[in-house]
Amino acid sequence: MKKWLHNLLFVAALVSLAAVTLSAQAERSTRNLKVEKIADGIYAVIRAEPASLWFNPNNVFIIGKRDCIVIDSNLTSEHTREVLAELRKLTDKPVKYVVNTHWHEDHIIGNRVYRDAFPGVQFIGHRSTLTDLPTVGEANRKGSLQNGRGFIGLLEGKLERGENLAGEKLTEEERLGYASDMNLVGMYLAESKNFEIILPTVLVDDRLDIPQDKRRIEVRYLGKAHTESDLIVYLPDEKIVITGDLIVHPVPLVGSTSFPLEYAATLEKLLALDAKIMVPGHGPVMRDPAYLRSMIGLLNSIKRQAEASVSRGETLEQLRKSFDLEELRKTFAGESRHKSFVFRNYVTMPATAAAHRQLAERGKEASAAKGEK
Ligand SMILES: [Zn+2]
Repeated sequence: MKKWLHNLLFVAALVSLAAVTLSAQAERSTRNLKVEKIADGIYAVIRAEPASLWFNPNNVFIIGKRDCIVIDSNLTSEHTREVLAELRKLTDKPVKYVVNTHWHEDHIIGNRVYRDAFPGVQFIGHRSTLTDLPTVGEANRKGSLQNGRGFIGLLEGKLERGENLAGEKLTEEERLGYASDMNLVGMYLAESKNFEIILPTVLVDDRLDIPQDKRRIEVRYLGKAHTESDLIVYLPDEKIVITGDLIVHPVPLVGSTSFPLEYAATLEKLLALDAKIMVPGHGPVMRDPAYLRSMIGLLNSIKRQAEASVSRGETLEQLRKSFDLEELRKTFAGESRHKSFVFRNYVTMPATAAAHRQLAERGKEASAAKGEK
């Protein structure tokens, strides 16, 4: 793939994307969700967009006698209002807390919908969100500003010509994926003129227990992984864990703001909770740890290969040449050309860059420490 094209896609794939003019033709379609009861008073809102570069997160409702808790908001206010309408079908109790599992914008843009509907609502987030959103979040947004229009135009042209981004005959899966991306980017861009980023009002370092009747609800930080500050919500009595983007299905999201060197260890801690039901950030409700184990295998392999490459003194380019994720790509993407494309954009390219950056930083720190002696 041409380098500019790759760069364009890569930036566009950074999840927290941003402000450009809305393509007039972009179709608006929401209602791509289903509500699944997973325990008494606990419901997962599962998004069903096709696997592609853009998506909405799942949400979870924890409904108590006097109030309720919602996990994550959505990519746009419109999507969030749709989720709130589903909550309204289940209860008339107010939302007391919204837990934002991390600062990626698809999990927070809709916060304002809850703020407007429930004046007393509190937003729970990791402490580092306060510094991450205005810095790395802002950088992400700027990158998308520069590339969003091009991304939509590129996909539009490809759909018109009936070809994929590599110029091959478009498959149905690719067509659905591109159409979904254009729809979501369009809706996101439409709102971007009026973005109002709402930062957490309740900060978590390692753990926060939220009282709700007799239910035990633990918001926990397990370590660096998908971002520097992913929170999970664990319900020890029901053995339910809401994982945020620590788990993303069908293709994991080891993006450019991930920490590949710690990711597997963090997932081991998640596995150790031995939850019977896992609600991932994106993808279906999981009732066994098979997928989580596959992700641990992937992240261990990335760490091992990156460390070996850097110990040989390789540059990022050389590291990418020496990397072999082919078997693991098959585990997640199977024979699907489109999922393989997503794997390249969400795992291979950003994970290698992030791992190389982390190892370079470690190297610098180590030599600085030596210099001090
Ligand atoms: Zn994310």
